[in-house]
Amino acid sequence: MPDCIFCRIIQKKMPAKVLFEDTHFLAFEDINPKAPTHILIIPKKHIESLDTMVEEDEFAVGRLFMVARNLAREKKVHRSGYRTVINTGTDAGQSVFHIHLHLLGGRPMAWPPG
Ligand code: AMP
Repeated sequence: MPDCIFCRIIQKKMPAKVLFEDTHFLAFEDINPKAPTHILIIPKKHIESLDTMVEEDEFAVGRLFMVARNLAREKKVHRSGYRTVINTGTDAGQSVFHIHLHLLGGRPMAWPPG
């Protein structure tokens, strides 16, 4: 997707602080962090949102959580706890339409979210 900023990051046409990369996934620091640890984990396949995922994307979306778990351990927030979030659509505040899992940690968090 030429006008997708996360696709541009995948293609190295846009800079990002990459923390993990393999053939099908990428994780990088959020540019506007909402917690001491705020990482975005994305599939390299352009999936717009959870709402547009199809059955063949099931593994990819599940794998985002395994990458998040590993990064939480690397960042040493796994003992204090962390939050994983996928915003879907306007009401949820999704602003980038390439599915991404937020990994937030390093501070206590309120519930319910605003
Ligand atoms: P969402 O609102 O759930 O769609 O989240 C999009 C996230 O992407 C926000 O937390 C932004 O701060 C983050 N973001 C937007 N552009 C970039 C970028 N170029 N590099 C890293 N993070 C970004």
